[in-house]
Amino acid sequence: MKNETVQDRLARPLRDLRISVTDRCNFRCIYCMPRHKFGARHQFLPRRELLSYEEIARVARAFVALGVRKLRITGGEPLVRHELERLVRYLAEIPGAADLSLTTNASRLTPEKARILRNAGLQRITVSLDALDDRTFMAINDVGVPVAQVLEGIENAEAAGLAPIKVNMVVKRGVNEHSILPMARFFHGTGHILRFIEYMDVGQSNGWRLNDVFPGSEIVEKIHAELPIEPVDPNYPGEVAKRWRYLDGGGEIGVISSVTQPFCGSCARARLSAKGTLYTCLFATSGYDLRHQIREARASDEQLRRYLTSLWRKRQDRYSQIRADNTIQLPKIEMSYIGG
Ligand code: SAM
Ligand code: SF4
Ligand code: SF4
Repeated sequence: MKNETVQDRLARPLRDLRISVTDRCNFRCIYCMPRHKFGARHQFLPRRELLSYEEIARVARAFVALGVRKLRITGGEPLVRHELERLVRYLAEIPGAADLSLTTNASRLTPEKARILRNAGLQRITVSLDALDDRTFMAINDVGVPVAQVLEGIENAEAAGLAPIKVNMVVKRGVNEHSILPMARFFHGTGHILRFIEYMDVGQSNGWRLNDVFPGSEIVEKIHAELPIEPVDPNYPGEVAKRWRYLDGGGEIGVISSVTQPFCGSCARARLSAKGTLYTCLFATSGYDLRHQIREARASDEQLRRYLTSLWRKRQDRYSQIRADNTIQLPKIEMSYIGG
C-alpha cells in the first residue's frame, strides 16, 4: 500500500482518526446526552444508516494510506454495538496503523468482553470516570450506574492485558471539582494514567458558559499542593495531554486544557461519525458524506484516497483558537454524535 503524508492549509498532517460506531449510549451524562434532549422520544440512527464494520475498515484503510497512525473507536458508547470485536479485528489487520484503542464508559466491560477485544487486537483502552463517589457519579451519568461497576470494568481490562489504562475525568465547575483529589489519590501508584479534561461546551446541549469550565492550571495547582508533580516531555509532537509526573514515583497524570489552552496548531485529528460523515474539527457544523462516496458513488479505493486528500488539503479549522482569541460564540455539533 502506498503511504503518503498529506498536509492541511496550516501544514498539519493527518495522523489520528476517531471512529464513532454508534450514536447510542446506556448513559445520559449531563454534559453529553442530557435527558431533556436524549429522552424516550429521541430518534437514534436506524441500523441501515450506520456504516457496517466492513465499510468502516475500508475507510480506515484509506486514512492509513494517507498517514493516519492512530485509530480510536468511540461513540456514543461503542460497547453497545453488537460484536465490536469484529471491527477491532479488521482494524488490527491494517498494515501501518500502529495504535488501536477504544474509549468507553466501561459499564459493560465484562472479563469475557475485555479478553475478546484484546484477542481481536485491541491494544489500549481509555475509560471515562468523572467521580469516585456514587452520589456525584450517578448525578452525572443519570442512569444510576455506580462507580464500582466502572472500576470493575477497569480491573477486567487490566486482567485482559489492556494496561496501562487511561482514565478520563471531565471536570465541570460546580459539579465534580471536589472529586479531583480523591481521583488523583485513588489512581496514584496504580500504573493507570488519570487524565483531567476541561469540560467543553460542545453541542447545542451545553450553553455557552465559560464559567462552567474548571481550568487545567487550577487542576494542576490543586494536585501539586498535596501530591507534588513536575512536567514531563510529550511522548510525541502535538500530544494533546500535558504530562505530569508525581515526584514520589507514583506515576503520571495528564491534563487536557482544550478550552483554556487550545492546541489547534498541532491538531492532526479527523472524526468519522457513525453514519459515515467525516468532520475535520470537533466543532465543525458540517461534514463530508463518505457513506455516499462508498455506497452510492461507488468510489474505488484510489478515488476515496484522492477525495480524502482533497478534503484534508483544504482544511483550515481552528475553532478553539478562534474562540479563545475572540470570545465569540460559534454553532456546535453534539459530542455523542461525533465521538469526543
Ligand atoms: N461513551 C464513551 C465514553 O464516555 O468514554 C465514548 C464516547 S464519549 C463522547 C468520549 C469522551 O468525551 C468521554 O471521555 C467523555 O467524558 C467526553 N466528553 C463528552 N462530552 C464532553 C464535554 N462536553 N466536554 C468534555 N468532554 C466531554
Ligand atoms: Fe455516553 Fe460517553 Fe456521552 Fe457519557 S460521555 S453520555 S458515556 S457517550
Ligand atoms: Fe482540532 Fe478543531 Fe479542536 Fe482546534 S478546535 S484542536 S482544530 S478539533
